[in-house]
Amino acid sequence: MTFPLVDTWFERRKIDDDITVLWEPHVIELMRCNIWHVRGLNRDLIVDTGMGVASLATELADIVDKPVLAVATHGHDDHIGSHHEFDSVLVHPAEAAQLENPPLTSLDMVQAWGIEEVEGLARAGYEVTDSLFVRALPIGVELETFAQKPARVTRLIDEGHIIDLGDRQFEVLHLPGHSPGSIGLWEAATGTLFSGDAVYDGPLLDELHHSNVADYCTTMQRLLELPVNVVHGGHDPSFGRERLQQIARAYLDRRL
Ligand SMILES: [Zn+2]
Repeated sequence: MTFPLVDTWFERRKIDDDITVLWEPHVIELMRCNIWHVRGLNRDLIVDTGMGVASLATELADIVDKPVLAVATHGHDDHIGSHHEFDSVLVHPAEAAQLENPPLTSLDMVQAWGIEEVEGLARAGYEVTDSLFVRALPIGVELETFAQKPARVTRLIDEGHIIDLGDRQFEVLHLPGHSPGSIGLWEAATGTLFSGDAVYDGPLLDELHHSNVADYCTTMQRLLELPVNVVHGGHDPSFGRERLQQIARAYLDRRL
């Protein structure tokens, strides 16, 4: 099989002076997560790290000039691949094992997950037409030997904890449902929510092996009340409060 080799792996876009989003264009849409960089006064924040196919730390070298706090919104394969590159790794206790022992040891979807999980995604509304998670690889990375590397979790974060960048403070919101330890980072001063996979503008996944629909409903009720200006999700484009409420109400109508 011929497979394209590429010399740039990430793309990025500046949202404002301090926030940049990065993504992996050669990863299939289903697994292409948003990687957020927030510049702080004393510390920078990274929210999720992608698949771990290429070095995120190298990619970020030109915009990071301070200690980095690398948060995982949850432990799923597509959000945790490069946490091992960072000294400070923060995650909810229910998801820590997935960072310390990442289960992804293949870029072949069925080999990695099993056929039942893949069929479940199709039922949730994802067209799964690729057999691999990637459509190209960075030069020097081999399909056969790829495996995610373990990270060292340095801080367990839960509801109400504060992540302080010096000039910006993010409060941890525990938002379970998609996974037991899903969290969001809420900056009340600007109405900004980094929501991970608790909410994004695409088909939501609540039938994974550790998803919980009742918890997800509680999370959606909570999000309905949150005075957000902007939601930066784990996938798909960002959106405002009106769209958040549409998504939450549609979920509750379907599941409650
Ligand atoms: Zn997820």
